[in-house]
Amino acid sequence: MRRIWFFRLAIFCLVSVAGIAPTSAQDPFDGAVAAAIAAYNRLPNNPHALREVGRISDADGAIIFAEMIDGATRIVYPGVIEWLYVNRNAGVWTVTLPGTLTYRTAYRMLSQSLKDGMDAADRLVRTQAQPGLVAPAALLDYELPFPDGAYGTITRSYDAHGIGRIDFDLTAREVAAAKDGLIVYADDASTIQTYESGGWWYWNTVIIQHDNHQYSLYGHLAADSVPAWIRAGCPRETPRVPCAVPVRAGEVIGLEGNTGNSTNPHLHVEFGQGYGVVPYLDRLDGDNDGARDQVIYAGYVYGEHDVGLNGVAPDVVGAWGYLTVLEAVVGE
Ligand SMILES: [Zn+2]
Repeated sequence: MRRIWFFRLAIFCLVSVAGIAPTSAQDPFDGAVAAAIAAYNRLPNNPHALREVGRISDADGAIIFAEMIDGATRIVYPGVIEWLYVNRNAGVWTVTLPGTLTYRTAYRMLSQSLKDGMDAADRLVRTQAQPGLVAPAALLDYELPFPDGAYGTITRSYDAHGIGRIDFDLTAREVAAAKDGLIVYADDASTIQTYESGGWWYWNTVIIQHDNHQYSLYGHLAADSVPAWIRAGCPRETPRVPCAVPVRAGEVIGLEGNTGNSTNPHLHVEFGQGYGVVPYLDRLDGDNDGARDQVIYAGYVYGEHDVGLNGVAPDVVGAWGYLTVLEAVVGE
């Protein structure tokens, strides 16, 4: 409990700096948030539950940060944070959860100061939610995640996107492993884009283990784009079962796509110290089978860290600006 209070206090300070009054404990706001989370946690077949870990708020709205918990074991999925948006309309608080078609509308109705404070508050909550992992000693031997000689354009690097997260626009469209390793997760079954409805996951993803505490994730991949040699070892039917397919830096592992929480085709790469596969209630019918009450799975990495790329130091990579154009050079 002390830990939770610590970062609630920290978020409160953030809000105070922005000159926003926090919601009082007597306000029916708290009841509305608690009721919405309780209702979500009681959904039929829901494999997990949400628990609030922080919030930022003003007079007419709020962003609630909630961690995800396994419904049966009560184990927290590390690094997975959901955003709930709260809006006041005619004196009534409405709480909107991810996976609903009004999710993006609810976000748009929030004040600009709340939107501006969201990333910093999210980063704080996420950092607190991560377990203490042992960071690897060297993170300098990664390559740009596209084939040798191909070009990619930076759209967001670490400084703009958060620790260990980097976005590319790939003209060549082929995505390649950033370092030798073992593919431990591969899913390319989804065709849907969930930006409007707030699905947090990157959907079609490949995750590679490079060493102890070293993983890379490649997200938003195009449907059916993972090559057959990977599919052979990581069958689509069982994405939750870990696989182990050796891969070399520069080998093509899929195509750039626009699946999951994405507005335009791009490649999201994330570097972390661990990975997980979270069971998720398919409220958006991500597998296109018409059922919205079954469990589907999504891979993710956590314990994010910045890595160097193509011999460039992590802090320099982090500062790469929008539209920086880069050529992959893999090997000697
Ligand atoms: Zn991204």
